[in-house]
Amino acid sequence: MSHPTSHPDPEWAGCADGGEDEFVPPVPDAVDLVLESATMLAVFAAERLRRIEAMRREELAPILGRGSGAVEMAERSIRLELSAGMRVTEYAAGRLLLQADALVNRYPRALDALSGARITEKHAEIFVDLVDQVTPELRADIVDRAIALAEAEPVGTFRRGLRDLIARVESTTLEERHAAAVGGRRVVVESGADAMGLLLLHGPQVELHAIFGRATAMAKVIKATPGETRTLDQIRADIVADLLIDGTTEHLPAAASGIRASVVVTVPVLSLLDDDAAVAGDPPVVEGIGPIPLSRARELSGGDGKWMRVLTHPETAMVLSVGRDRYSPPAALQKLVKWRADRCMGPGCGMPASRCEVDHQIRWADQGETALENNAPLCKGHHLVKDNTDWVVTQLPGSGGALEWISPTGRRYVVQPERKVPVFHSAGASADDASSAPF
Ligand SMILES: [Zn+2]
Repeated sequence: MSHPTSHPDPEWAGCADGGEDEFVPPVPDAVDLVLESATMLAVFAAERLRRIEAMRREELAPILGRGSGAVEMAERSIRLELSAGMRVTEYAAGRLLLQADALVNRYPRALDALSGARITEKHAEIFVDLVDQVTPELRADIVDRAIALAEAEPVGTFRRGLRDLIARVESTTLEERHAAAVGGRRVVVESGADAMGLLLLHGPQVELHAIFGRATAMAKVIKATPGETRTLDQIRADIVADLLIDGTTEHLPAAASGIRASVVVTVPVLSLLDDDAAVAGDPPVVEGIGPIPLSRARELSGGDGKWMRVLTHPETAMVLSVGRDRYSPPAALQKLVKWRADRCMGPGCGMPASRCEVDHQIRWADQGETALENNAPLCKGHHLVKDNTDWVVTQLPGSGGALEWISPTGRRYVVQPERKVPVFHSAGASADDASSAPF
């Protein structure tokens, strides 16, 4: 390949007017070259799926109209053909066939987005996996919004956004579906190799996260005691086993025995009071889990102190800033900063905010304030990148908490917080312009 700056065609040079106005094509940097190959991969992935679907149709054509047994055998044969030819597992070949069928026949606009490299193959895969689970009557409501989401967001954010979108569309039936699913709760032991096995508890996610969260919090206390050599995973497993066998925490260090689970549940306050408002509004959401049935949320919100309740009400009084009086945000501000973001504000990161550190975007040492408009949660990894590399991270003024990440090569990414918190401005400033600005 010729170098992009030296054009080999002498005619081309003649086309320019000559002199200083001569067009100089921009020189792609190393990141551009990587992105260019990623674009090619997407284009080729779409083409491969089209050809896989064409192959499937061609091989199925002769047996159309015969019984389902014949079709099933033909499909097995096609899967083996594809797996042998591509030298991938039959499972992988089967996935490709399903994806191809779905994208070509049911979601052609998503396939177009892949052909145009506006989404990646991974986006397309998640799209099919999630949208296919939606009952066909509700799909029409979701497809266009899902494609727009895929075109705008990195993979992790897209997956969460699409799940939320689907849950929101389905939330009218969430109550009944959850009630039916809860009936399937059970505990199962699976035997494994080397005299080990798995204990599986299938139950409502809220409780499971509470169990895991409590075991983790206890394990961290024990891990910090002098002489402790077990890993966090090992300690957590020992704690759960001890609790289930003995049912007490008396043998644990005093600091670990009082720990109770904490789950953050966000409920639109009107939903708690009024059924009509509940139907119209957003469903209640549990941090790290997603929407839950309203009846569950009402139960949790009225329950005891181990649930942190954030009621989304426009008139809620909030601590917005403590200026430069103190470096470490007071508990209420920390909660608000984390609640607003819900997750690490690193590009595409999914780490729940409860496990993040609160970062000052303008560093304390550089006169940054401890305030909602200068604080955001970052996981350890993203915090390190922000503080120790040439990435430049800024909270966009008036955006309600959006972070702008400028890469060392000058590329710009904007991470939006999960929720909006009212921002108060002096007269003349407009918050809406900034918060609704496109990437
Ligand atoms: Zn992160």
